Amino acid sequence: KPMLKINDVSKIYDQKIVALSEVNLEIEEGEFMSFVGPSGCGKSTIFKIIAGLSEPTTGSIEMVTAEKVETAIKRDEVGFVFQHATLLPWKPVIDNVALPLELKGVSKKERQEKAMEVIELVGLKGYEKALPRQLSGGMQMRVSIARSLIAKPKLLLMDEPFGALDEMTRQNLHYELLQIWQQTGMTVLFITHNVFESVFLSTKIAVMSARPGRITHVFDVPPYERND
Ligand code: ADP
Ligand code: ADP
Repeated sequence: KPMLKINDVSKIYDQKIVALSEVNLEIEEGEFMSFVGPSGCGKSTIFKIIAGLSEPTTGSIEMVTAEKVETAIKRDEVGFVFQHATLLPWKPVIDNVALPLELKGVSKKERQEKAMEVIELVGLKGYEKALPRQLSGGMQMRVSIARSLIAKPKLLLMDEPFGALDEMTRQNLHYELLQIWQQTGMTVLFITHNVFESVFLSTKIAVMSARPGRITHVFDVPPYERND
């Protein structure tokens, strides 16, 4: 069943830059959808709109689990991972991961228990007391993924999460991410420049073009092309 609907969304910056033009898309629950396309085609803009960080100029977004996207975000049904891990350097892994719960006022005991669960899920057990700078780039990304999972989001938005990583690390994280996706049943939206990555990970690929930003094709990835 559909979990997110993008209805006729356009985004015009500064009254002249047409970043998105009449984008329509329906995303099914449990889907892993990649967004591919040249720089400037509006991938990040779509994500910011879905995340509630930016308003569409016209059109709307519907989260089927909530009347408004804002409500879904407040309920922590939406999680985010960005290209750079954006961890607080002075906080150990466990506190970085627990941060979303700390901001919500969850007790220390409870948030540390929940943090340990997701730290294990991303394969970082034993590193909970380490500081971010003591970890490799790939491990920092795992911390960032763990932090995005702690509130058990129904929808996870990942904006080129592995773009800055070397090939080996990237491939390891692909397997990890697919396992997490299968275990949690969440819907994942994933931006990448890397077509191989999108084919390997996704159940569906949305191909975008620039000037103006549009979704030109959406296609299913046959299971034999994927890892699972
Ligand atoms: P992508 O993520 O595919 O590279 P973006 O969504 O970042 O594309 O950008 C789409 C278009 O909108 C580009 O032409 C970009 O320069 C422009 N753009 C993005 N954000 C802003 C902004 N805050 N102000 C003005 N123009 C923007
Ligand atoms: P991306 O990796 O998505 O291509 P960019 O490097 O193009 O990102 O943009 C980085 C940030 O700057 C994004 O948040 C984007 O929305 C914003 N941005 C992009 N183009 C412009 C612009 N012309 N004016 C203002 N902000 C912009």
